[in-house]
Amino acid sequence: MTVHTGRHFLQIPGPTNVPDRVLRAMDMPTLDHRGPEFAELGFAVLAAMQRVFRTRQPVIIYPSSGTGAWEAAMVNTLSPGDKVLMCETGQFAVLWRGIAEKFKLDVDFIPGDWRHGADLAEVERRLVADKQHKIKAVCVVHNETSTGCVTPPLEARKLLDRVKHPALLMVDTISGLGSLVYEHDAWGIDVSVAGSQKGLMLPPGLGFNAVSEKALAVARANQGMRSYWDWQEVIAFNKAGTFPYTPACNLLMGLREAVKMLEEEGLENVFARHKRHSAATRAAIKAWGLETQCVDPNAHSPALTGTRLPDGHDADNFRKIVLEKFDMSLGTGLNKVKGKVFRIGHIGHFNDLMLMGTLAGVEMGLDLAKVPHRGGGVLAAMEVLKGHDAAQAPEA
Ligand code: PLP
Repeated sequence: MTVHTGRHFLQIPGPTNVPDRVLRAMDMPTLDHRGPEFAELGFAVLAAMQRVFRTRQPVIIYPSSGTGAWEAAMVNTLSPGDKVLMCETGQFAVLWRGIAEKFKLDVDFIPGDWRHGADLAEVERRLVADKQHKIKAVCVVHNETSTGCVTPPLEARKLLDRVKHPALLMVDTISGLGSLVYEHDAWGIDVSVAGSQKGLMLPPGLGFNAVSEKALAVARANQGMRSYWDWQEVIAFNKAGTFPYTPACNLLMGLREAVKMLEEEGLENVFARHKRHSAATRAAIKAWGLETQCVDPNAHSPALTGTRLPDGHDADNFRKIVLEKFDMSLGTGLNKVKGKVFRIGHIGHFNDLMLMGTLAGVEMGLDLAKVPHRGGGVLAAMEVLKGHDAAQAPEA
């Protein structure tokens, strides 16, 4: 039996720590999802999510994990045989491709080394070569949670416009929304996919699609089979503040409170806080003499940092020691980077001293696991947090 003598340190990049305020907001009697009290909640969370996605278009909320929202994005807009362009940024891009293939989409998968964001120059080349506009959608993962590399969705939009290609732009911002700047409308995103258990500080269980007018029109014309995921039906019910099925009432109560908290802090401040924590984490990793998984200085994720251990040292053994000794969960390396990488989540409900505790646990764990490293990582991070190490501080 695990005994927690204080708060467990949940430093995986999702699910993230749920604030007490959100827990209390959910600790309510379940209500009649067809009654007037629910409609008030329904309208409130639909409007709140439009503000978070920064869109005037509908946001569809599913009682699902992010994977359901991925599937919804595809079955509403695409049909078997449709060509889609996807980029191998890491494990989540690989999993999204898997869904596309199960729906018999024709996936053109641009290879990547899992240490950079998407290869947008190659996306552009393939779009230019697609004179007949066979590619129906370009799909990118905004914040690749398996590596800690960011792909800028706005750059993807710019290149689609530059080459005048009509493909839909779909963005997985499951671990980006609420942690990284995101502008669904201003960036011209057609379908944004998100989940509740990352920057939104909720338990897992809600999936989101934000859509564009163009995506809605494509979906209306799409005869492909779908029922539960069908946007039109949900949007029709949402007009009355309700859903076509029993919604996850208590998670929605939590969502209302979580967005309130994000807005009290101010989304810009939330994004800046994550950037600062990411910069401080990288300063620690540099001081330890270790490498980040992301090697592009412009692509480091504000939400998590993938950290490599030297060859011959097993990252999962290190994580096990940290869990057993210090009651802290760090993210495991996934698929290709299993055993080579551990991930430090600095996403969601998180502050300077939580980061200090996290990095102290990592530094002690490196010692105990006999991973070759230098000391001083925690001190280096403190310099960044105090604002003394301008070189490491994130740009404004
Ligand atoms: N996409 C990204 C970027 C993720 O981080 C995750 C989960 O961690 C998913 C998709 C899958 O979401 P879920 O596990 O909620 O189904």
